This record gives sequence, structure tokens and C-alpha cells, in this order.
Amino acid sequence: MQPKQNVVHLPVYKPGKSTADVKRELGLTEITKLSSNENPYGYSPKVKEAIAAEMDSISLYPDGAAVELTKVLADKLGVETNQVIFGMGSDEIILMIARAFLVPGDETIMATTTFPQYKHNAEIEGATIIEVPLIDGKHDLDGMLQAITDKTKIVWICNPNNPTGTMVTHDEVEAFLKAAPSHVLVVLDEAYCEYNVTDVYPRTFELLAAYKNAISLRTFSKIYGLASLRIGYAIGDPEVVHTINQVREPFNTTRFAQAAAIASLNDDEFIADCREKNAAGIVYLQGEFARLGLKAYPAFGNFIMVDVERPAVDVFQGMLKRGFIIRQDPEWKMPTCIRITIGSKEQNEKLIGALEAALADVALITK
Ligand SMILES: *Cc1c(COP(=O)(O)O)cnc(C)c1O
Repeated sequence: MQPKQNVVHLPVYKPGKSTADVKRELGLTEITKLSSNENPYGYSPKVKEAIAAEMDSISLYPDGAAVELTKVLADKLGVETNQVIFGMGSDEIILMIARAFLVPGDETIMATTTFPQYKHNAEIEGATIIEVPLIDGKHDLDGMLQAITDKTKIVWICNPNNPTGTMVTHDEVEAFLKAAPSHVLVVLDEAYCEYNVTDVYPRTFELLAAYKNAISLRTFSKIYGLASLRIGYAIGDPEVVHTINQVREPFNTTRFAQAAAIASLNDDEFIADCREKNAAGIVYLQGEFARLGLKAYPAFGNFIMVDVERPAVDVFQGMLKRGFIIRQDPEWKMPTCIRITIGSKEQNEKLIGALEAALADVALITK
């Protein structure tokens, strides 16, 4: 057998340790997982009822086109239903975009360091990856613009950027779209947009109306708290959405996910509350990191990246020992940086206590 040449070298995704693993291995009873940007407040209470109502229909295929959910979402966002497509998480939308647009020889531009799925899926399609380094944790949109050639098919902009948490503003994204040639699909991955409390975050729908080559990706996994149900969506030009629909699997979202998403969209109060608490958590953690003399990146999602000036892997182990799963990744090429999901007030306070202790155990790297 001969797999695709561009797949042979790909690593298999290694999930982080589960809470159960860590409890067992370290003999801990309480573990706080602040490594995957999950919602510490769970999900809207309306979701339970919506899921229960679907139980009798488990044996029936879901509505592949997610007609009802599409209508609810389109109405809410003020877009047309033919501008919307759902995926098994926005991860699947990324996969579908790569599958629909990229062939070997195409170029695709992304930041380094950013969300790894753009590169992963582009590699599977055999596209040439052009990586443009972040500047102080932030997308270098000018550099990305200069990297565009007539072979460029897709530019990926993760906003806020995972893992650094930084944001590019409305004016910056608009200037980019204005200058980018119309043959380039510009993907705005806005997985954390609902956490925004600034007035400079892109007014995405204005941009989508003006630039048919722009598309926004969103998810129910983060502020909506539905990560395990796997549902996300894209909003874009009807023609681009149609193209993505052509490669979509017939039943790619479940009836539970669809029902839960509808229920979530009908609970603005839950979302507003999560947004407010998250913003307060960012202010608290930034203050604490400053007190500890650590440089944190500006944070616009539900996570914050901080330079601990020590080997991140050692700080990670020290935090694990103290019952906190945080995130560090050698692939980031940021060996002294950790990413922490904003937890509840109580979790954040305990986290800082654990971090102070963990930092005291690990020697500083002198630069
Ligand atoms: C979490 C995340 C996603 C994907 O989430 P799904 O669970 O697949 O919807 C996409 N992009 C970024 C930047 C993320 O952080």
C-alpha cells in the first residue's frame, strides 16, 4: 500500500493528559484543567432540555443541512441562510476549506505561531505552506500581504490568535482585505470573538459584505461551552459557502449538536455573563502576572499567554503536581511561554498561588 506522499510524515494528534490520567498518576483528588480553553461555567441551562427532547430520535439521521439551526443563526446574525455552513466543530470547516480549495502546488499563508489545524490540513492537500512570523505575538498582516503571490489560494488569520491571545483590529483587517487580491480566500478564524469587550474588534459582517473573498469561522466549543458536541460554522459569500458544501459529508453535525446550538443561541444572558466574568478574569491575571514581574501578552480570548522566563515544560510539570493542567507546546517554538485558560474567579486565584510555588522551584533562564 502507498499512502499519499504528503501524509507519510504527518504526526498523529496526541491529546493532552486527561483529568482522570493525571489524578491517577499523581494521586491527586482535585484537578483544574485550564489547558483547552473550555468554558469554566459549562453551558446554557437551556441545552439540557433541548438534548433531552432529541433522545427519542437517536435512531433517525439528523437534518444534514441543519435547516432550522441555519435559520436561527442567520436571523440572529443578520445574514442570508445561504451564507452559513456548519461543521463538526470549526476544525471540520478548516478541513473542508483546505479540501475544497487546495491542490499540490498551491500556496497558503499563515502566521507562526498560530492554530495548528491550518497547516495540518494544508499539508494533507499537498499545498506549500508559507509561514509569516508573529511580531510580538501579533499577526504581521503587512508581512502576510507581501507573501501573497499568484499561487496563493488561502490566507489564514486567527483572531484572537491561538495561542498568543493577541488581536488584529477592524482597521487592520480591513486594510489587509482592501490590499489583498480577490483571488485569495481570506479565512478569519474568530473562535473567540464572543469574548470581545473592545470596540476595535473587526465588525466582521461589514467586512464580509464588502469582500466576497473573506470568510469567518466560529464555534460553539468556546464561549457556548459545547466542545464535546462538535459544532462550529462559517459565514461567507454564498458562492464560497456553496463550494465548501460540495465537499461536506452528508450528516456532519448531530441532532444533539444542532438542538444544543439552537438552545444556546436563545440564551444571550448566559453568554453575556461568561463574557463579563472572563474579562474580569483577564484583568485579575494580568495584574497578578505584573506583580510577579512576568510578561503576559495582551489577551482578547478566554486564555492568556505568559512568558515565565523558565523552561515552560518544567513549569508545566510543577503546575501538574499542584493539580493544574495548563498548556505548553514545543511546536510553538516559544520555549518559555505557557498558555492558561481563564478560569472562574476561584480557579484563577488558586492558579496564581500554585504558579508562584511552581516558579520558585524552577531556575530562571538568563537571557
Ligand atoms: C478551539 C479552536 C477552534 C476549533 O474549535 P472546534 O471545537 O473544532 O469548533 C478553531 N480555531 C481556533 C483558533 C480555536 O482555538
